[in-house]
Amino acid sequence: MKIIRSLTAMTAWSERLRREGVTIGFVPTMGALHDGHRALIRAARLRCDALVVSIFVNPTQFSPTEDLARYPRPLERDRALCREEGVDVCFEPTAAAMYPEGFETVVTVPEIGRRWEGEVRPHHFPGVATVVTKLFGTVRPHLALFGQKDYQQSALVRRLVEDLSLGVEIIVRPTVRERDGLAMSSRNVYFSSGERIVAPTLYKGLQAGAEAVAKGKTKASDVQAAMAKVIDRERGLTIDYLAVCDPLTLELLSSVTSKAVLLGAVRLGSVRLIDNLIVTAGSKRMQRKLSERLPRGEGV
Ligand code: AMP
Repeated sequence: MKIIRSLTAMTAWSERLRREGVTIGFVPTMGALHDGHRALIRAARLRCDALVVSIFVNPTQFSPTEDLARYPRPLERDRALCREEGVDVCFEPTAAAMYPEGFETVVTVPEIGRRWEGEVRPHHFPGVATVVTKLFGTVRPHLALFGQKDYQQSALVRRLVEDLSLGVEIIVRPTVRERDGLAMSSRNVYFSSGERIVAPTLYKGLQAGAEAVAKGKTKASDVQAAMAKVIDRERGLTIDYLAVCDPLTLELLSSVTSKAVLLGAVRLGSVRLIDNLIVTAGSKRMQRKLSERLPRGEGV
């Protein structure tokens, strides 16, 4: 596996392969890789000839009060995981190389980026949209993989790529969870043992919402209430938002008549947790899943 730190070297590598007709896959990450990232890398490996994983803790998507300085950076372990999974290039640019003196462009996706996470973290999505655009321009992949775990981010990236004709195929893969349902995240290491026990409650709340839809509830307020009931029961959790949304625009829905996404964000100690589930009104598959009591279903 090659480790590339320079942007020009990265682009030169990709351009050479593109000229040879090689399909380049890309998984952008902030490192501290876990099995969620591993699943994205494996899915990418099956779809491309040459695979690039970037590890870049992007400072512009953190606000000054957030955890940029303490964000975990186990670089050697991350490289080992990439090697194990057959990654061809680990792209590790520095912040100075990504944002040299004079850098001033900001990419925004104003509607999708304004809601939910955007409201709580106004810095976040302009930082994400800008870094994704810059990474795509540097790595020049044919396809890039993102996790459903960060649903709003994936919707925003799809919009961005279409609006700016970036010519990268976006593939979104299901959320990988711990056995108790907690979505894997690099930030889960911040939990105390007591908090870790409470953390899966967000997913349980989302499941209660999905169950309400499966049982025929169509009013979004009923679905929202079903989610809130589970989460309110748990002391120590504060709800930032629980919402029933249009899966493309992320606008709040008043009723669930076809596909919807249940979005949730809570605070637990010093950690913000986000998670989501896709639901389909009247979906036979979802009803079957619920009757089989499969707790880890995704994308129902
Ligand atoms: P991050 O390193 O947190 O910026 O995440 C890099 C990519 O991995 C993003 O596309 C995330 O959505 C994805 N990802 C993070 N956690 C998970 C998970 N538990 N399951 C699937 N994908 C994930």
